[in-house]
Amino acid sequence: MTALSLADFERDALDTLTRYGTIPCLSPMFDDEWANHGHLDAAVALLADWARARRLADFDVQVHHLEGRTPLLTITVEATGASSGTAVLYGHLDKQPPLGDWSEGLDPFIPVRRGDRLYARGVADDGYSTFSALLALESMEANGTPHSRCVVLIEASEESGSPDLEAHLDALTDHLGIVELMICLDSGALTYDRLWVTTSLRGVLNVELTVRVLARGQHSGSASGVVPSSFRVLRQLLDRVEDSTTGEVLLDELRADIPEEHIRAAEAVASEFGDVIARELPVLAGVELMGSTPHEQILRRNWYPTLSIVGMGGIPEPAIAGNVLRPSTTAVLSFRLPPSVNSERAANAVLRALTTDVPSSAEVTLTMHPADGWVAPPLAPWLSEALESASIEAFGRPPAFTGEGGSIPFLASLAKRYPAVQFVATGVLGPDSNAHGIDEMLDLPTAVGVTNAVTTLLSAYAAK
Ligand SMILES: [Zn+2]
Repeated sequence: MTALSLADFERDALDTLTRYGTIPCLSPMFDDEWANHGHLDAAVALLADWARARRLADFDVQVHHLEGRTPLLTITVEATGASSGTAVLYGHLDKQPPLGDWSEGLDPFIPVRRGDRLYARGVADDGYSTFSALLALESMEANGTPHSRCVVLIEASEESGSPDLEAHLDALTDHLGIVELMICLDSGALTYDRLWVTTSLRGVLNVELTVRVLARGQHSGSASGVVPSSFRVLRQLLDRVEDSTTGEVLLDELRADIPEEHIRAAEAVASEFGDVIARELPVLAGVELMGSTPHEQILRRNWYPTLSIVGMGGIPEPAIAGNVLRPSTTAVLSFRLPPSVNSERAANAVLRALTTDVPSSAEVTLTMHPADGWVAPPLAPWLSEALESASIEAFGRPPAFTGEGGSIPFLASLAKRYPAVQFVATGVLGPDSNAHGIDEMLDLPTAVGVTNAVTTLLSAYAAK
């Protein structure tokens, strides 16, 4: 079978992918006015038009609208082989915000190509997915390689935790039919030289916590020493959930035993790829890392609970900071949870810890958004072999398997919905791809490699 080349990808996908890169189609969490702004609709329309122009024998492009929810794009490609099940290829088109100023010459919404890398927000996370999924199918049909019925499913709420996906899946249950294979094109890679398969994802728990002590701010000369500081109360509350010396999360409900096979897999990755986690991070010289060996760092990133304070409110910028005792302090806590932890249970434990016997009886309010992690089910023998061939044919090297420290909440919900399904979570988010950060980049040869790997997987599925 003739594999897709970079030239093919450039000819068939690059113009539209670049136009997609210009659309500020932020996920709803980052754009309350998304429905009025229409950027998500513009992105769906662009991708749907591109999809309609594919050379496929029997396919249908639909944009699904549900009241008050983001749109969902499906491209249903009927089987050219005899298989009766459905393969779902998942991606998303909503984007993270720019995060900050991008480097000289780069801009989140003005795509720039440097060498074989395309820079713009959303091109790698996860704009390429529609193109990879459909170009894989197009190349199969051009080569006369049979494929099963496939539904390419592109949602628009992933970066907000996929709040709209369940409703769309409910509406599409009959249409999807018997789903046997799920290929998620939204995951990461530790190197660009092979296919990386994700074996676990951490869950996430976001908490917005506000501590209030005053109805309005007071001269600190008149109130301090008498009124407790909201920041100090916050600090005490945080000490209940995290050891501030070691960074260890203290609540049992947020911890999990690491399965033996995941410990061994991390060992294998550490011995083959070495310092693969730390060397990609822009750590300042002299800063000591948590986890002294590459093996420990992999496990820490993929299986340890952690707390990051990702936002603060109620605190003035330094330039306008007067001597005032503030009425309140707000912190946004982002917990990453071990893949096997029940996030609702974790949320209840955090709620108890932060609201019981509050120091100084300060007023505490919080909102929580838990989402489960995911542990990949065991691979069927046919899929295990197919992954091996897919990586060797597309990249010239065997695949590698690792957990991810990030979260893709919908994978957990899909796994619950389709317990017997085979999952492949893979993607292009490798070193310097900067998903969610500044200077997001798509490595084009990797996008082509992943596309070719999808071809091999779909071909093996149709032949099994
Ligand atoms: Zn993504």
